[in-house]
Amino acid sequence: MNVSELTIRSQAFLDGEFAPAASGRTFATVSPRDGRELAQVARGDREDVDRAVRAARRAFERGDWALAGPAQRGRVLIRLAELMDAHLEELALLEALDTGHPIGDARAVDVPNAARCFAWYGEAIDKVYGQIAPTAADALALISREPLGVVGAVVPWNYPLIIAAWKLAPALATGNSVVLKPAEQSPLSALALAELAAEAGIPPGVLNVVPGYGEEAGEALGRHPEVDKIAFTGSVAVGRRFQLYAGESNGKSVSLELGGKSPQLVLADAPDLDAAASAIGWGIFYNAGQTCHAGSRVIVARSIADELVALLQEQAGRFVPGDPLEESTVLGALISDEHLDTVIGHVERARADGARIIAGGERCEPVPGGAYMAPTLIETEDASLPIVQQEVFGPVLVIQPADDVDHALALANGTRYGLAAAVWTANITTAGRLARSLRAGTVWVNTFDAASLATPFGGMKDSGHGRDRSLQALEAYTQCKTTWISLA
Ligand code: NAD
Repeated sequence: MNVSELTIRSQAFLDGEFAPAASGRTFATVSPRDGRELAQVARGDREDVDRAVRAARRAFERGDWALAGPAQRGRVLIRLAELMDAHLEELALLEALDTGHPIGDARAVDVPNAARCFAWYGEAIDKVYGQIAPTAADALALISREPLGVVGAVVPWNYPLIIAAWKLAPALATGNSVVLKPAEQSPLSALALAELAAEAGIPPGVLNVVPGYGEEAGEALGRHPEVDKIAFTGSVAVGRRFQLYAGESNGKSVSLELGGKSPQLVLADAPDLDAAASAIGWGIFYNAGQTCHAGSRVIVARSIADELVALLQEQAGRFVPGDPLEESTVLGALISDEHLDTVIGHVERARADGARIIAGGERCEPVPGGAYMAPTLIETEDASLPIVQQEVFGPVLVIQPADDVDHALALANGTRYGLAAAVWTANITTAGRLARSLRAGTVWVNTFDAASLATPFGGMKDSGHGRDRSLQALEAYTQCKTTWISLA
């Protein structure tokens, strides 16, 4: 499929239909591939959020989704996954244009993984049981889980489809209605998804999509008194705002998947340094480093630091920035020119702070007008520098030499984040000890970014406290009810 054949949905999706913003206003969504405008999109604000939430509440109370049997909801979600697979080309192209992802990744990873997520929860939901509490013989005490009602899902731009699916699939599977607020930088795939969801049989009002700015549509959703829960993925600062909105409105529950500064610890006995270097390269340069759990720090035993740095330089050389629409591209565009400036600013600050820039650090322009950056390697001994402590969200890897295992652990735990970490060692005892001591929601041993829908994903410390994926996520979208029946 080529760009001219693409149908772009640009209105909000409210109560089963596309509609303009009540104000009639729009905003431009621009492709970071070449800086060109893709569409004018409905600029949802408080009024549109209110329309969406009221439609979601009506749908919840109508009960044709919330009270349907789980197998029936499951079938619809599986059908949605099939429709996404059938529209793979269109969805992949939208994602690549709107975000700058390489089209090959969008085809092989973003769309199939998002579709698989709907299928996974669709397959799972009629196999989840409640409990019976232990009581005396004169009572029957049932512990069941019920949907929350209206869920607001607020997502970022780095993996628009996948992160939306991580929230929508368990929320819908458990019978909730949802209002999705995609990031203003990347609203297009969410609107295409809404259309497919309706085609799959999700009733009107059960899934609504309100595109718009964070301070307008996002805040209105966070403060809406009829929203029972906010499932948020994004930055730490905005996550905190959602807690504030909840506290100042109806005390809705808020789950937060926030940023990261994930370390990869390469110890002196790492079994295969080539494999580690390759995983480190992919771990930071995939999606131009705009991954919440990107392995943005390497903590390496001093004795092998030179050898590893040489291998990482080779890796960096393999990630040549290119046109996201070329099948062979592995490093596409960053989300926007503005974000690229921020990332370059981090590197310049590191340089001024005395860190050693080993590779990259500069913009490039494989497609004129686009937002591209060369893979960047930085080395420093100073763990207090902002380049070590702050999330950069670009193709920038910081290398920190360590004296021994305890020093490596202290460096690894020495930021406010705790999303993920990896350990490369041949010693099972060291691996087990570090896995237990690393304060991170996921720890990998001798691999990076291995995952499945069966494993939970989320952070500790400032990286948040919710868990996406796996059966655990079902708990985030349900509440527990006790029913005590007297048998006396
Ligand atoms: P962001 O926090 O700026 O925006 C995320 C969402 O919040 C967007 O939809 C945005 O419109 C909305 N928003 C922004 N300001 C708001 C406000 N004042 N009130 C209400 N809503 C508002 O994040 P981003 O720049 O889009 O995404 C990058 C961040 O997301 C990074 O920090 C990254 O680590 C994080 N992230 C985390 C995970 C995870 O699972 N832990 C996954 C992906 C991205």
